Amino acid sequence: MGDGMREKQAGLLLDEPLIFERGRPGQVGVDVPQDDVGDDALPAELCRGEIEGMPEVSEPEVVRHFLRLSQWNLSAATTFYPLGSCTMKYNPIANEAAARFPGFANLHPMAPDEAAQGALELMVELQDMLAEVSGMDAVSLQPAAGAQGELTGMKMIRAYHSDRGDARRKVLIPASAHGTNPATATLCGYEVEQLEGNPQGVVEAESVRRAMGPDVAALMITNPNTLGIFEREIAQVAELVHADGGLVYLDGANFNALIGVAKPGHMGADVLHFNLHKTFSTPHGGGGPGAGPVGVRQVLADYLPNPRIVREGERWRLSDAAEKSIGRVRSFHGNFGMFVRAYAYIKALGGDGLTRLTRMAVLNANYVRARLEGKYHLPVKGLCMHECVLTDKHLEPHGVSTLDVAKRLLDYGFYAPTIYFPLVVSGALMIEPTESESLETLDEFISAMEEIVSEAEKDPEAMHAAPTLTPVGRLDEARAARKPVLRWKR
Ligand SMILES: *Cc1c(COP(=O)(O)O)cnc(C)c1O
Repeated sequence: MGDGMREKQAGLLLDEPLIFERGRPGQVGVDVPQDDVGDDALPAELCRGEIEGMPEVSEPEVVRHFLRLSQWNLSAATTFYPLGSCTMKYNPIANEAAARFPGFANLHPMAPDEAAQGALELMVELQDMLAEVSGMDAVSLQPAAGAQGELTGMKMIRAYHSDRGDARRKVLIPASAHGTNPATATLCGYEVEQLEGNPQGVVEAESVRRAMGPDVAALMITNPNTLGIFEREIAQVAELVHADGGLVYLDGANFNALIGVAKPGHMGADVLHFNLHKTFSTPHGGGGPGAGPVGVRQVLADYLPNPRIVREGERWRLSDAAEKSIGRVRSFHGNFGMFVRAYAYIKALGGDGLTRLTRMAVLNANYVRARLEGKYHLPVKGLCMHECVLTDKHLEPHGVSTLDVAKRLLDYGFYAPTIYFPLVVSGALMIEPTESESLETLDEFISAMEEIVSEAEKDPEAMHAAPTLTPVGRLDEARAARKPVLRWKR
């Protein structure tokens, strides 16, 4: 290609310099009238000085810059996004419209209760719906993410035990658990004892029986677990924990496999968290706000965060009266916009819709598993729930690994599955298709996965170079995180 300009604009894949490298002195994006108040209307110490190196660019340049950058991102709205454990389902636009109703979007977080009756009522209804689908007795919407829901739940468990003068030291956690589980237990001052699953990846009642004792405060368990397998012995497991005075924390991140079909409350859970940004289609990733409500059985209801929404005559009111509460875990009311989206989603689907959602999610995952079994190694045989785990074992003879497969998928236009998690499976590729994907999309993805196996057999070296069609090729991931080079060089 000839001159520099052409190189940068080739194929409409637009180059994008840093915004600091654009523009020229004196160029402005907005034209604000000269103020007529005079120079000393504001005290000098409250006025900001000049900012050195501030880019001076026109409005269209600003818009194009940020819109182009946004188009370099993949999302569930741009491509199939089978990131296991994360439930990257489509977020219906109707939810967005509801969240933008001026009465919700413009409500000030410090508005007095009387001015926020509709918002409070929506929160109460959402709490009730979450309690209904999970089989729990009470719900708090405050926590801002799953991990914070875990912290809230474990703090309640600790408060419960200390109230009974029975400070316990240990928390049991299966080896397949998400890293936030042991992190949460440790943050709450507990010692973590790891439980090994059986070869099918399931926690057996027998191993819980051996580990239980009067010093165990709780078991934290994920169901279905991070291998996408239903914990078949969950009821006996919970019984054993309860018999020794412990409580059961159920990590509800995988609720997309249960909703409308089975209730954690019926499995013996005393407390669980929901991830609204996973199961209930609120936006997810990119550091955006999440929401991790907690649901509890009656034994823990006294300890739920304050303030709570209570009924007083005809009105809703926030109350700090609950004395045993662990207190506030989040400023204001939690991420309210997420509550509106989740509420709209649940109302739109209704009970039957939620049940169909789960069936479709499980069917899609099993379709992918059944079609790819053989091409890829399946560490746990048999039916899975909403996600399936494959490995790179069959590719090992060609020197091709899970990382290569994930990178090559980007060239095929798919976001990669979760890789190298759960840690109990070597070379794991964890695929979660979600209910919102069509058969055609799943077939395209499966074809890409099959193609990649043929490529690995024919030209393994080329696989190490992937991705080659993305704006940025294969990175040294540790260095890219620590010393990012933001300038794009093709
Ligand atoms: C996502 C996830 C979490 C943590 O939830 P965040 O909302 O990301 O904090 C915990 N456990 C499991 C199994 C998860 O998949």
